[in-house]
Amino acid sequence: MTKKCEVNQRPICKLCHKYCEKFAKSHIISRGFFTNTLISRGTNQSVWDMESFCGSGEGRKLRNALYDCSMLCQTCEHNIFAPLDQYAIRVYRDFNNAAFLDLSDMSRGLKATAKAQGIEEAKFILIQGVNRHLLRAFFASLLWRCHASSLIELKAINIGQTYEERIRNDLLSNGAFEYVDAIAFSLTSLAHECLIMPVKKRFDVDGRQANGYTIQLPHLEFRVSLDQRNNPYDFGVVNFGEYGTSKWEGAMSLRKEYDTEKLLIFQTREALHQWRCIRNEFRKYFTNNPQRNKHLIMTK
Ligand SMILES: [Zn+2]
Repeated sequence: MTKKCEVNQRPICKLCHKYCEKFAKSHIISRGFFTNTLISRGTNQSVWDMESFCGSGEGRKLRNALYDCSMLCQTCEHNIFAPLDQYAIRVYRDFNNAAFLDLSDMSRGLKATAKAQGIEEAKFILIQGVNRHLLRAFFASLLWRCHASSLIELKAINIGQTYEERIRNDLLSNGAFEYVDAIAFSLTSLAHECLIMPVKKRFDVDGRQANGYTIQLPHLEFRVSLDQRNNPYDFGVVNFGEYGTSKWEGAMSLRKEYDTEKLLIFQTREALHQWRCIRNEFRKYFTNNPQRNKHLIMTK
């Protein structure tokens, strides 16, 4: 377990496998996802203290999000990972090039579904000009980092040797990442203000299956498939409804060709619970379910 930046005996970069003089300080999840979020924007919550904990009682204070100082060389960190993080932040946190729409701007089918679910007043965020290849690369890199890192919060995450190598090769050679797909949910409830480390899932939508992970970043949930099969979530099958304490809505798949280079994210409802209440509930849940080896990073 690495708790802080330490001098490693053999500083070999886990991506390029080259010897490096000094490891980079590599964020597993970029700090940018925790600042200036949908909710904190315009407030003075620019500095976040974080705490990680899980049911087994392991946990620690995190001063600067989650980072690993014995994983990557400076070149890989700055040339490969940092640009992917920056792009994903522009799209998913900042809604760059986004148009904010009402249901009246949407298709007839979508209107009917929303009406049936009683959420006619939902807001839609349409992001245009999305580079889906970069987003797939981002999700692949995120899972690879979680796998490659030896941090205590990530030790349960194992994407397997095949995908470890495949993603590694694609990251080094600007590959296509065709086995990665994701949909995003924008969630505004305080319950979704925390980071939940990737949790392995078998997605099953009307019999169409794919293996993957759910990842929750502040106010964002991603269902990322890591599979040759398509991510079974798409516009046609995303359900509207209650999810935890907030309404959740869908976004489009990166791989499907519903609407090339456009990404639609539905903005969700107002927060329903106070932060402390949520935090205590999470703590209780993890204490009562120690077998759930799921690390949670709380931001505050
Ligand atoms: Zn490297």
